[in-house]
Amino acid sequence: MRTIKAFGTTAASEPLKPMDIVRREVGLKDIKIAITHCGVCHSDIHTARNEWNNSKYPVVPGHEIIGKVIGVGADVTQFKEGDLVGVGCLVDSCHHCPPCNRHLEQFCEKGATFTYNSHDKHIKGQQTYGGYATEVVVDEQFVLRIPKNIDPAAAAPLLCAGITTWSPLRHWKVKKGDKVGVVGLGGLGHMGVKFANALGAKVVMITTSPEKAKDAKSLGAHEVLISKNKEEMAAHNNSFDFILNTIPVGHEMDPYIGLLKIDATMVLVGAVENLKPFHGGGIIGGRKRIAGSLIGGIKETQEMLDFCGEHNIVSDIELINMQDINNAYDRVIKSDVKYRFVIDMESLKD
Ligand SMILES: [Zn+2]
Ligand SMILES: [Zn+2]
Repeated sequence: MRTIKAFGTTAASEPLKPMDIVRREVGLKDIKIAITHCGVCHSDIHTARNEWNNSKYPVVPGHEIIGKVIGVGADVTQFKEGDLVGVGCLVDSCHHCPPCNRHLEQFCEKGATFTYNSHDKHIKGQQTYGGYATEVVVDEQFVLRIPKNIDPAAAAPLLCAGITTWSPLRHWKVKKGDKVGVVGLGGLGHMGVKFANALGAKVVMITTSPEKAKDAKSLGAHEVLISKNKEEMAAHNNSFDFILNTIPVGHEMDPYIGLLKIDATMVLVGAVENLKPFHGGGIIGGRKRIAGSLIGGIKETQEMLDFCGEHNIVSDIELINMQDINNAYDRVIKSDVKYRFVIDMESLKD
């Protein structure tokens, strides 16, 4: 066991502050990573503040981790010291159940081990601690390779915001020429726009704020639809092949259901809470589907990263020091970030 520096919180009402945590020694199949960058996801805030009522304290958030390999176990085959690697929302699973066999570790029947706030299999009585830290030790099967040509800091959000939007676009087979709506322009939405554009879709940003139009177009949207404008919405009725809905809170669904073509699907990736009731007729007429999606498996995450390398796709970020984290959380809540904060972990050594 090794004591390292981290940033975390001891209670829902407490700000994040420096703390020491313990990491396991490098096991046979483990990789030890010196963390250089970590993205700030809204889930970090929900967990730090116990907003999902399942937080175990102390909480050390962070599941958009980028770093350099500084140690490998004797049985490691895929990585060596010096490699640039990433770790996302998952650090382990049972490896044997039907979802794990289908490369869907996020749905492991025994319960996947999430990067923070999960039961730690290796250190008795401790939960997992995330990437707001100088180092992490992870099973090599849950470590991702980061393409050399993309900026490591801007690659960090690909590990959660990236895969969360990539996986549904791939699963529902979005292809060239499809009309794809992306609802909500935040950390998730801005990645959805970039990916849908790179896949050759006709991308429509659907937002409540007209002031976001210019940004959406520079990110790759071909058109912007203001959801508050009923006439504009009506003009797009029954025309979308797919809608990626990233709104993070419960909201009216009927206006978006109306936009879908026959047999088309709207996927929810943001709202992990009660949705407002919607009219059954809206999906019955048109055989429409509402679905959900949670991050993606490790294999699919690597495919997404390789695609990002080929197409030069990264997140738009604002780099911060670890000491600025509490202010950054307040700004995420106000949607005052374009589009993801990433912590320069060098600052944690100060
Ligand atoms: Zn996340
Ligand atoms: Zn499993």
